[in-house]
Amino acid sequence: MQHQALLENYLKQLHLSSFIDNYQAYAADAARTDLPYERFLLALCTAEVAQRDALRVERAIAHAKFPLLKELATFDFNAVQNIAKQRVLELAQGGYITQKETIILIGNPGLGKTHLAIGLAVAACRQGKRVRFFGSSNLVNDLLSAQKDLRLSKFMAQISKLDLVVLDELGFIPFTKDGGQLLFQLCSELNERVSIIVTTNLRFAEWNQVFGDEKMTGALLDRLTHRANILEFVGESYRFRQRLREFESGNDGGETEAS
Ligand code: ADP
Ligand code: MG
Repeated sequence: MQHQALLENYLKQLHLSSFIDNYQAYAADAARTDLPYERFLLALCTAEVAQRDALRVERAIAHAKFPLLKELATFDFNAVQNIAKQRVLELAQGGYITQKETIILIGNPGLGKTHLAIGLAVAACRQGKRVRFFGSSNLVNDLLSAQKDLRLSKFMAQISKLDLVVLDELGFIPFTKDGGQLLFQLCSELNERVSIIVTTNLRFAEWNQVFGDEKMTGALLDRLTHRANILEFVGESYRFRQRLREFESGNDGGETEAS
């Protein structure tokens, strides 16, 4: 009994929490099945490594600050016309992050751009990448207040340490000239250092409307579309079509939405 307490104390000091949870059951199993000592130790280590991996992913996902969790697995590729599942799954393997490439998801609202962006970013978290999700206008506000508080370079340096930044809904709300300029500055800083996933409802020709300044828009587009994977979403709003289907099947009675 005494050495049991001592063992658990040591395991605690060594931060081997899953060993504490598992060692008695595994030892009983090992004794019953005549398992070699090494196999018993291996089983304990395997459980510890799996627990640490799961924790790391959980932390990375929390750190990314997704507004809601979406998985590629729940994306219905049949619902969008020209988004090839194979291409998205290839991107999800993360090669674009190592290559510091951009992904641009363009299309009308409701077609699943944010869903795919989050799905790709969650996949990156699972691969141990440092990821952060930003609504574009929130990010611009954060940049403006960082500038006001004289901590802009610190803020930008923090973002530059990430592997992947999601810029969601670029173009939904026009920026002020200062805001647009700061976003441009950030994108220049991230260029070829950090991968960016952009979701936007704007065709490239319309970006001027959001950034005001034509020269700057050109320069920003140049940064973002350099080595970019562009996925264009075509079709009708997914939820709209779902509702239509519910309506047609006589099931339109006030269902609440899952997200
Ligand atoms: P967008 O960013 O293009 O406006 P969202 O990604 O926000 O669209 O999609 C709106 C809602 O519809 C979300 O709840 C999303 O999960 C769902 N959705 C859209 N397209 C699909 C799809 N092809 N498969 C599954 N869910 C989808
Ligand atoms: Mg969206």
